[in-house]
Amino acid sequence: MNNILNKTLPVAVLGAGPVGLAAAAHLVARGFTPLILEAGAQVASNLESYRHVRLFSPWQYNVDKVARGLLLAAGWQAPEPEALPTAGEIVEHYLKPLAALPALAAGLRLGHRVVAITRAGFDKVKTRGRKDAPFVIRAATLEGEREYLASAVIDATGTWSQPNPLGAGGLPAQGESALRDRIAYGMPDVLGVERQRYAGRRVLVTGTGHSAAGSLLALATLAEQVPGTRLIWVIRGRQSARLFGGGEADGLAARGLLGMRLKALKQSGRLELHEEFRIASLAATASGITVSGDTGATIDGIDEIIAATGARPNLGITRELRVRNDPWLESTDLLAPLIDPNEHSCGTVRPHGHRELAHPEHGYYAVGAKSYGRAPNFLMATGYEQVRSVVAALAGDMLAADDVQLELPETGVCSTRQAYASEPVASACCGGPAPSQETACCVADAEAKEQGKGGCGCPSLPNLAPSAKPAGCA
Ligand SMILES: Cc1cc2nc3c(=O)[nH]c(=O)nc-3n(C[C@H](O)[C@H](O)[C@H](O)COP(=O)(O)OP(=O)(O)OC[C@H]3O[C@@H](n4cnc5c(N)ncnc54)[C@H](O)[C@@H]3O)c2cc1C
Repeated sequence: MNNILNKTLPVAVLGAGPVGLAAAAHLVARGFTPLILEAGAQVASNLESYRHVRLFSPWQYNVDKVARGLLLAAGWQAPEPEALPTAGEIVEHYLKPLAALPALAAGLRLGHRVVAITRAGFDKVKTRGRKDAPFVIRAATLEGEREYLASAVIDATGTWSQPNPLGAGGLPAQGESALRDRIAYGMPDVLGVERQRYAGRRVLVTGTGHSAAGSLLALATLAEQVPGTRLIWVIRGRQSARLFGGGEADGLAARGLLGMRLKALKQSGRLELHEEFRIASLAATASGITVSGDTGATIDGIDEIIAATGARPNLGITRELRVRNDPWLESTDLLAPLIDPNEHSCGTVRPHGHRELAHPEHGYYAVGAKSYGRAPNFLMATGYEQVRSVVAALAGDMLAADDVQLELPETGVCSTRQAYASEPVASACCGGPAPSQETACCVADAEAKEQGKGGCGCPSLPNLAPSAKPAGCA
């Protein structure tokens, strides 16, 4: 791809999350003018919604390099690289200062929810001359709809604001909409501002990822403090070994430690686990919510529900653009084989850049969590490398654009020493460059853990010769 842009129009960045703001920093560094359209009343609205959560990757992987350079030049104090920040600390100590730099602040429009993108004078069908037409971005604001022109679009709108519904089939469960005020999607601050909502209540949590585990452990702490708080965990499958992770032998240290705490919770009888329960409907009764599964099983007397069932990208805004997404992950098409959770048990993905992120619509890129679609294993550091490559391509610096590398060690990004453990624990198979046979590694990792053994690169296996490790593991 040649340099496709004249610089008279801005490059639009949709979403001022960590990846969108990093894209803006790269644009500034390469002499572009970014126009940043953010739906929320402040930057990083999604991280803000779970600001109480301590992340599992340390600062050194959460700050984009070019953004860091701009901040340091403005007198910023860099945080301790090994420390694990909360989401709120990322917002306060990194993203807000970054967005406040004059070169970014000048183009930042808060309260601008993008509702549609097209090309000026070109509907989706029309081809000739298309790639030279500017993009038109329509945004909903408090003052009504506004339109902006841009020479290219970097869509970093994430997925978090579009949570998956409770229904196992991907549609809202029957009755779900009517009970909306009793359901929290995501990770409510159970021990903080939402404490009264959950104290002494029967709370059903559904989901099998980091968010569900985090909410269950917070509820367990609340239950120790407030008698009568009850935890009910509903999962669609029956895969306890994978759910509880590999314990101390888990290649993902944070997951292993979370899993061990959950397992202990279950064994203590304080966690009521319903396996193979696929939610079909919800109904309000005098004694609380009755949750029914598709086999006819029911759980009665629920006061509150926490839905941690993942999220999906907003594909509606690009309806008028020529985009090519994977049919089921809804990720950018070429990324799908690398991140399909049907195949991958962990967060490894080969470094990738503008070529994998490109769409038939010349000059439009989905980056960040949105580029992964419904796949849950996105990491900020991956997004920073994505936008470095994309912006280099927009600038016509194809040497830099094609020199894609994710500078994470295979161990380290999931190191944790505060969130779930008192001592630092290194881990592998999460976020670092995938070993050359990344699929083999991930499958071997999952299978080994299901049999109660160590996965690839596990802390329990550091002294094994590479040849003695499971197939595909570096
Ligand atoms: C509980 C939890 C813990 C996590 N821990 C880690 C971790 O330790 N390490 C790690 O690397 N990653 C972690 N992640 C993943 C991390 O949140 C994502 O990697 C990161 O937020 C993705 O950044 P993003 O900029 O792509 O999207 P987001 O952070 O989701 O930002 C998207 C932005 O776009 C805005 N937006 C949405 N729609 C529109 C629209 N239509 N118009 C305009 N603006 C819009 C949103 O308001 C938001 O500000 C965690 C996620 C969760 C949920």
